[in-house]
Amino acid sequence: MAHRSLNVVKAHWRFFSTLKPSAREVNSNSKMELKSVINALTRMTPEEMHKKMRDMVGLTDDDMKALAPLLDENDPGIFEHEPSPDDDVRTHVQVGDSQCLLTGYLKRRLEHIPGFPRPVKETGSAYRISSTLHRGIGMFAARRLKTGDLVADERPLMVFPMGPSTDLNVITPITKMTDEKRNNLLNCYSQEMMGSIFERMSEENQETFMGLYNGRLQNGPLLGVTRTNGYGLEDALKDETEIANLLSMMSSNNQVLKSMIGRYVAVFKDLSRVNHSCSPNVHRKFHMATFSMQLRAARDIEEGEEIFTYYTQILLPAVDRAEGLAPYGIECTCRACLDTAKSDPIRAAVLNYAPPALLTSDARIDAAVQILAKIEEEELQASAPYRDTLYHLFTAYALTRDEKSALMYGEKLWLANLAAGEPLCEMFRNAELLKKSPQWMSAELVAMPERLVSLWNSS
Ligand SMILES: [Zn+2]
Repeated sequence: MAHRSLNVVKAHWRFFSTLKPSAREVNSNSKMELKSVINALTRMTPEEMHKKMRDMVGLTDDDMKALAPLLDENDPGIFEHEPSPDDDVRTHVQVGDSQCLLTGYLKRRLEHIPGFPRPVKETGSAYRISSTLHRGIGMFAARRLKTGDLVADERPLMVFPMGPSTDLNVITPITKMTDEKRNNLLNCYSQEMMGSIFERMSEENQETFMGLYNGRLQNGPLLGVTRTNGYGLEDALKDETEIANLLSMMSSNNQVLKSMIGRYVAVFKDLSRVNHSCSPNVHRKFHMATFSMQLRAARDIEEGEEIFTYYTQILLPAVDRAEGLAPYGIECTCRACLDTAKSDPIRAAVLNYAPPALLTSDARIDAAVQILAKIEEEELQASAPYRDTLYHLFTAYALTRDEKSALMYGEKLWLANLAAGEPLCEMFRNAELLKKSPQWMSAELVAMPERLVSLWNSS
């Protein structure tokens, strides 16, 4: 946690190097001195910079605590991994009612989390599962939900590895096979794996599982259901053993295999019912500490509205999204897919937008504001550029000491972070803390170069 906030501080203080004092305000002597101060600051480690900043502007311990991200209740804590012979050996693990096939490494990782598994959250009938007009069964908002509200928090029916065993004797021959042969072999492995997990599930969960939609009957009953309904858990739950890292490096020329090694998939009773939209209205995030996946509203959702997640990358052009959705047997009919001439250029602009390092000029702020408008119009609040753009606008206005605008975007950013399950920083929405934020203070000091130099020399 401390480490993370230090990086935040460092990122902000880099703005020193991007803020040029105006010649009018500084005589050439102090300009030279100011330049050396700025150079020294940008060369510092986060720890050094942190200490220097505190000394210069006289922040107290309480100030620093208030500026740091709030303690994240889902933080699994630090794990010092000591290699063990069974690190890469798979074993059946039960968490609550979830049946899982995990490596020895992951089993120990989970057991190391204080209070594991932490209780899942009650969402008090925020959603209902019922039939849709054209998409089979779906999830619907049972009441009005505001941005950031928790929609669902659910443990999986099962969790299983995406790829074959991380064993060199298994992987090495696979990397040399033709695509077809490899796929057949991987299917056999997966069938076997699924069978062993399925037989451990309660009768009720087996029934629930078999009741999920199977859009891939050619894969058989078990594998078909998991391929249709599984969510990849990505970095939230993965093997980080030496062999997994090594294998991942070795298969760098085989993207399919690389994307599987050390990775896991989870199937859920309710969450697996959530349909796809290219403008999803929720974020989903798996938390190791609760061993559950949370859905949070990415924007305000009306009562009765269908809840949508994404099964493919939503910023890509419609033709690429269709390709990503084909394996699920989905032909998307969302607004964006029905009017690609309008939607594709907007998505391309959002995808290709890169905020400049120095964002304080009016033209650049305008560009960021326009991208934000496109994101909101196209309902892409669940995509990463939404939070990035808000962060840059907050920073730009804090650096120009425009309190009202900084807090306006900061409040949206705070909510977007809540929705995405990211750490929360109160300085984004609190006027008093905003003025102690690194952005605000660096702007203040650079606007008064003499003060900056004297503070530097005296601290
Ligand atoms: Zn679509």
